[in-house]
Amino acid sequence: MDLISLQAVFAGISQAIKDTKSIVKAEGAFEEKGKRADVLSQLVDIQEKLLDLKERIFELQEENHELKTKLAEIDEWEEKKEDYELIKTEAGEHVYRSKNQPVHFACPKCFEEKHVYILHDERCPNCNNYFSIEKQDSIGGDPADSFGGWMGV
Ligand SMILES: [Zn+2]
Repeated sequence: MDLISLQAVFAGISQAIKDTKSIVKAEGAFEEKGKRADVLSQLVDIQEKLLDLKERIFELQEENHELKTKLAEIDEWEEKKEDYELIKTEAGEHVYRSKNQPVHFACPKCFEEKHVYILHDERCPNCNNYFSIEKQDSIGGDPADSFGGWMGV
């Protein structure tokens, strides 16, 4: 049952309650004040329960919308991650490499969090981690200063 049909049901029940109230009033169906008060309080209870249900339906609808959005994001990521493969660099580090041109490398740490950050100078612009792509011949020195092999920059 969709939301529109449920709303129609609620409207119908609400109308039925109104009709019952007026019948009770007009026909004097319950002579005893106590009984009449009971019926009316039951009707109020029903109305309150219906309102709660309505609220719950809206909550569920909102939740459903959020889940659909999340699913769409997951689908999008699944498609995007297909463009990359995990490789071991010459220097023995694991990074993601694009399968398409222009070939670039992506931060493996951020990739695990479903974000693609292209390494610049072997450094991730997001988490600032350093990933050595090329094997260093010289021992010592700042590895950030000695990049410049793989892209010819
Ligand atoms: Zn990163």
